[in-house]
Amino acid sequence: MRNYIHSEQLFEQSKTVIPGGVNSPVRAFLAVNRNPVFIDHAKGSHIYDVDGNDYIDFVCSWGPGILGHAHEEVIEAVQKAVKDGLTFGAPTKKEYILADMIHEAVPSMELVRMVSSGTEAVMSAIRVARGYTKRDMIVKFKGCYHGHSDGLLVKAGSAALTSAVPDSAGVPASYTENTLVALYNDEDSVSQLFEKYGDNIACVIVEPVAANMGVVPPKEGFLQFLRDITNQYGSLLIFDEVITGFRLGYGGAQEYYGVTPDLTTLGKIVGGGMPMAVYGGKRKVMETVSPLGQVYQAGTLSGNPVATTAGIKTLELLRDNQHLYEEIEQKAKRLANAFLEGGAKKGQPVSVNQVGSLLCCYFTEHPVVDYDGATSSDLDQYTAYFGKMLDHGIYVAPSQFEAMFVSSAHTEAEIEEACRVIQL
Ligand SMILES: *Cc1c(COP(=O)(O)O)cnc(C)c1O
Repeated sequence: MRNYIHSEQLFEQSKTVIPGGVNSPVRAFLAVNRNPVFIDHAKGSHIYDVDGNDYIDFVCSWGPGILGHAHEEVIEAVQKAVKDGLTFGAPTKKEYILADMIHEAVPSMELVRMVSSGTEAVMSAIRVARGYTKRDMIVKFKGCYHGHSDGLLVKAGSAALTSAVPDSAGVPASYTENTLVALYNDEDSVSQLFEKYGDNIACVIVEPVAANMGVVPPKEGFLQFLRDITNQYGSLLIFDEVITGFRLGYGGAQEYYGVTPDLTTLGKIVGGGMPMAVYGGKRKVMETVSPLGQVYQAGTLSGNPVATTAGIKTLELLRDNQHLYEEIEQKAKRLANAFLEGGAKKGQPVSVNQVGSLLCCYFTEHPVVDYDGATSSDLDQYTAYFGKMLDHGIYVAPSQFEAMFVSSAHTEAEIEEACRVIQL
């Protein structure tokens, strides 16, 4: 039997000085009725808690760990960078190198700006869209997550065609009145908003693969539809590729699906495990950003030299080893099959979505194509599944509404072991 005594102690201590003992709510394991394990260190596909338990990790820090933890070449580059100073608040060659690599990987990102979190990237991209179009309203999708900026913490309004209402205390209703909520994979819900508000819609923002309600891929033609309707109304299309960027392929979801947005946000992988995110897009749109244009955006630690170093090395490794995308997709497929076979064996209805190295198993018999489908999953079964995995040394997301992430560090044997436990 594994024990978690030190984690439990640290959790109690942390709760005395940190709200809920954690610095991001999902880490508290509330949704799965457990105490969180406190992580001591990680290497490759494994993380180790303070109790000496080790786990095969399928959270991968929610995405950045596509090469596994503490990749030797990344760590070596970072150690070297650290010695040259942690922050200058002035431009560096590394920012140019990384920006150029991003542009090469994602050609629609002609100009890019670096920031420190995905939240900041999305918030800034939306400000640019509004500044460029001189319009106020934005359309987002129910179940898509774009960070915790005020205007995006919304639930749908009481009537489908009204603006959204805050989904968090502390957000004034006036901050969300320009946010409209459409349904993922539902073209009609988007058309209706454009018919009513089209002339005042600055942008549509979407996760090209929704990966914050489990994993929900776009229906055939959905992204192209968004491209067409935004073009028709003179609105911008923003792909929030904070998860999909450098994960679905080196060119992200826009390459994978062949649909090109006006603006893109990147995070997670782009910083190679350091706090770093990016927004960018068409030159003429991004030229509205200060100091070129009138849209203000700034950051003390933006383009941080250590973070850019981790990003550059991670991107180099991905760029020069693109076969790994096919390999991690195959591993994800094996896990997806294990869920299906396990479900069939146990007579337990499951529905599995998988795109590239992202996957999610829902405990429902219905195919999941949107948020309402995702929330129809039996959460008690998710809790039981999570506990079983953890106690067998496999670390998966402590919530149904997150993706399972596969990395290049997962070995065949580890995938095998995960498949075995899934089917217990
Ligand atoms: C994680 C995430 C964000 C927010 O990024 P942070 O770095 O946590 O602020 C935004 N959009 C998507 C799609 C994400 O998955």
